[in-house]
Amino acid sequence: MTTSEELHKRRTAAVARGVGSVIDSYVDHAGGGTLTDVDGREWIDFASGIAVTSVGNAAPRVVAAVREQVARFTHTCFMVAPYESYVAVAETLNALTPGAFEKRSALFNSGAEAVENAVKIARHATGRPAVVVFDHAYHGRTNLTMAMTAKNMPYKHRFGPFAGEVYRVPMSYPFRDGGLSGTEAAARALDQVDKQVGAANVAAIVAEPIQGEGGFVVPAGGFLPALATWAASAGALFVADEIQTGFCRTGSWFACEHEGGVPGPGARVAGTRPEHQGQAEWVPDLVTTAKGIAGGLPLAAVTGRAEIMDAVHPGGLGGTYGGNPLACAAALAAIETMRELDLAAAARHIESVMMPRLRTLAGRDQRIGDVRGRGAMLAVEIVQPGTTTPDPTTAGAVSAACHRAGLLTLTCGTYGNVLRFLPPLVIDDPTLERGLRILEEAFSTT
Ligand SMILES: *Cc1c(COP(=O)(O)O)cnc(C)c1O
Repeated sequence: MTTSEELHKRRTAAVARGVGSVIDSYVDHAGGGTLTDVDGREWIDFASGIAVTSVGNAAPRVVAAVREQVARFTHTCFMVAPYESYVAVAETLNALTPGAFEKRSALFNSGAEAVENAVKIARHATGRPAVVVFDHAYHGRTNLTMAMTAKNMPYKHRFGPFAGEVYRVPMSYPFRDGGLSGTEAAARALDQVDKQVGAANVAAIVAEPIQGEGGFVVPAGGFLPALATWAASAGALFVADEIQTGFCRTGSWFACEHEGGVPGPGARVAGTRPEHQGQAEWVPDLVTTAKGIAGGLPLAAVTGRAEIMDAVHPGGLGGTYGGNPLACAAALAAIETMRELDLAAAARHIESVMMPRLRTLAGRDQRIGDVRGRGAMLAVEIVQPGTTTPDPTTAGAVSAACHRAGLLTLTCGTYGNVLRFLPPLVIDDPTLERGLRILEEAFSTT
């Protein structure tokens, strides 16, 4: 049998250096919460392929649906010869995404492609050019989405020039902005938009409800509603990039719901946390989704108000593979699995197990400056003790110690000093517990 070492040699000779991997081990098979490499070693999965395999790596419904579809037809191109599963995914997204109004969806292959299309649609519908994004934002690696992404290294370095009419304003980052309230942070950002861009030029504000690659930054309460309210009054659109936060990851169908974002009609029963009732209600005009949507198959979408989505002329949106039938079959099966197993509740359970343990760890380890996140999207930010000075070296060393002990963790953040945890939502308690023990051990030995 081929070993990881042999595969790594082949890879180095064949795969472009610019494509990195977190670990040097090569996967043989994977299930709900563990990966087994070709050397027979088991890894506990706190990464989910970057928040993708929420239903697990080989969810039975997804496997069956894809098998059934692959035997019927693999591709016709929806723009050439349409099929039911694409329509069914659009119906499902229209029902689940925030907002009780009439919606339409369009399907794509990757998150970056969904964000690009949301911008195309917003510009077309408003007739305006400017796109407002935030510090620490991550929206992808294509030319337009690189312009929207904040961090230079490794995403943008020497890849410019970038697309124009993208304007960056300060984020609400409670650990680093001196405790500004959500409304104060929004006022700071929107003042810059008014002064430097001009409200009348803004097509869309694009925001991650909880930032992903940028460091699992949870904005202060009131930040998102204030942005959405401003956008509505300025004739601009509010686009929620739920690519990492969507599909039960944060303990509700979509992360906007935690902040008073009105759940979709199909999302009201499962997934809404009672403590979030009674907040000022608002809705994003467009929502971008990808990652967790299809159990690991490549699929992405833009969903939003019917009149905005339908503003674009026929033929203006699409792509050869967008809404591929295998990906659509997988998405319908993955979403059915989320409903059947109530994975929003599973994410809240993971939070209830992990959060106290991370807080206890932070209480005895001064290098943990902040513990944050929602549901199964949790992180610790590593700093020089007693300061907010980022310490990426320790974050990397703890992550490496986890890897040596068989726990797959990821780092993130503008300063590379955030350890993030994204277990599959179907992970069982004993596996979660084993992962937490390895993490605690890694902190005590690093
Ligand atoms: C991952 C991610 C993207 C880009 O998705 P790809 O499928 O990698 O193109 C965009 N926005 C957010 C919030 C993401 O987490």
